[in-house]
Amino acid sequence: MLTHVLCQYCGEDSEMEYDFQQKYFHLYFIPFFPLKKKVSVCCENCYSVFEGKYIDQAIQVKLNRVTERHPINTPIWTFSGIILLTLLISWAIWQSDRHSLVETDYIKNPKKGDVYFVEHSPKEYTTIYSTWRVDKVDNQNVYFTYNDTSVTKYTKVFSILSNNRYTTKKGILSRKKIEDLFKKDSIISITRE
Ligand SMILES: [Zn+2]
Repeated sequence: MLTHVLCQYCGEDSEMEYDFQQKYFHLYFIPFFPLKKKVSVCCENCYSVFEGKYIDQAIQVKLNRVTERHPINTPIWTFSGIILLTLLISWAIWQSDRHSLVETDYIKNPKKGDVYFVEHSPKEYTTIYSTWRVDKVDNQNVYFTYNDTSVTKYTKVFSILSNNRYTTKKGILSRKKIEDLFKKDSIISITRE
């Protein structure tokens, strides 16, 4: 409550009730972040209400003095959207990290039946995608059967996964070599049943 203020409407020496309304930016009804607080004062004598820049200079000065002594906090819920977004992004990063951790483990400890999704560039500006299936693993090497088919779009690789496509093309790569290929993203991903 402000005391002894001259009301700009009724001209009386009045008391005035003040109120702060927190404005906030929202998206789909979720408050994202706080904007300015909208201040209003109400004359107890004539009940006129004045808002923001329409508040008399002298009243504004008194108001500032009061809010310096008793600061108005910005409620935490006005940050809901920002908090939610941060959580969502953290979760997505955690998810993608976890995914590569699993695959890093697969590449370090290969197992019969693993399927590697691979990318080659046989010629400049040409990229093809195919899969390799692990047949056997020993201390040094990984033994593969390569898929007979390759495709030119990564999204199409899922159409060439059937077991009868692995027939004659065999290969042996050192365990060190496959870790290199994985680091260079020539081995894009690995699946294990
Ligand atoms: Zn008044």
